[in-house]
Amino acid sequence: MRILVINAGSSSLKYQLFDMDCGTVLAKGICERIGIDGRVKHQGKTPYEAELPMGNHADAIRAVVGLLTSPETGVIAGMGEIDAIGHRVVHGGELFSESVLIDAAVIRAIEECVPLAPLHNPPNLIGIRACEEVMPGVPQVAVFDTAFHQTMPERAYLYAVPYDYYERLKVRRYGVHGTSHRYVSERAAKILGRTGLKVVTCHMGNGSSVAAVSDGASVDTSMGFTPLEGVPMGTRSGSIDPAVIEYLMKRENLSAAQVLDILNKKSGVLGVSGVSSDFRDLLAAFETNRRARNALELFTYHVKKTVGALAAAMGGCDALVFTAGIGENNPVIRGMVCSGLSFMGLTLDEELNKTAKGESVISTPDSRGKILVIPTNEELVIAEDTRRIAEKSTR
Ligand code: AMP
Repeated sequence: MRILVINAGSSSLKYQLFDMDCGTVLAKGICERIGIDGRVKHQGKTPYEAELPMGNHADAIRAVVGLLTSPETGVIAGMGEIDAIGHRVVHGGELFSESVLIDAAVIRAIEECVPLAPLHNPPNLIGIRACEEVMPGVPQVAVFDTAFHQTMPERAYLYAVPYDYYERLKVRRYGVHGTSHRYVSERAAKILGRTGLKVVTCHMGNGSSVAAVSDGASVDTSMGFTPLEGVPMGTRSGSIDPAVIEYLMKRENLSAAQVLDILNKKSGVLGVSGVSSDFRDLLAAFETNRRARNALELFTYHVKKTVGALAAAMGGCDALVFTAGIGENNPVIRGMVCSGLSFMGLTLDEELNKTAKGESVISTPDSRGKILVIPTNEELVIAEDTRRIAEKSTR
């Protein structure tokens, strides 16, 4: 069975074609600058990169199908070999606690969630409609970034604001990166060969979030109503006293939208360091630039504090998992997060941390809780869910 995984953004569209029978990725790539001019980078039989006019997402899907089937770059004989399509959809609100086969009712429900993710759900919907236009009749599945966190109990997802805002306006914590937290927590249980685990998962990349996963279910996470809540990130502030927003509006004569834009795009380690949102740049400046050091220390301090809080929420931590761009690749940052965590039974092995490659255990042999690095694979989760649901639908 061949599954095409699509992650549609406002002007970009990432894709991967999986052969689920062999468990391999046949081709992948990205279309960028859709609606502006158009560029495609494709890796498959042969790599291909070119300017390619793409007026809209349907043009981008047509370009992808062309690349997947052409004699030069193609890996399949024709469009008919794509058995199902899986879409990453950012926000499923309270309507979706798992992946679903897309039909008209599901599209309406994703539309209902647009006010909760005004920047993300509309391009996701455009991607779904573009696939329907170019490949009519091929089963499509939606995999939601919020779905995994729908198991959070009320005490974790409710804000302490008038309850009416929750009932009427759905103001609550949803959490994001669910597909990643789900994948790495499942892998941790498999690697450790145990069930019933209390796992804290640290997704540290462009955006960062920490989750508490107890026996396979998310019970709390650091991101909230939007991805702005929680630990500081590349350009996002993370949690902040909301009174700061009004203060900045008055003092700097800004609108609420302008302050939120600053908190989303000009804050985090970029805002503190004034150097970069990329952690590699901060590490390069660590010795010589006090603010770069401040930013790294602030980031790792908040991740550590959140790990402790989420372990307390579960009454323990059997495994701490690092994933995503920073978590998978940077031993220094992992070391800073883990320093001082021995009190709760998590002791890092310096050497294993330094040499970790791919899936690795990096705690000392006598550490009560295990510390792991697990590369995330959200596309594989989307492909597997799509296969399962599409097979059921055609049976
Ligand atoms: P992601 O969102 O998972 O793609 O992560 C992207 C981010 O990971 C980049 O913005 C970098 O800040 C960070 N990153 C990638 N490689 C490294 C590395 N070797 N050391 C530190 N940070 C890294």
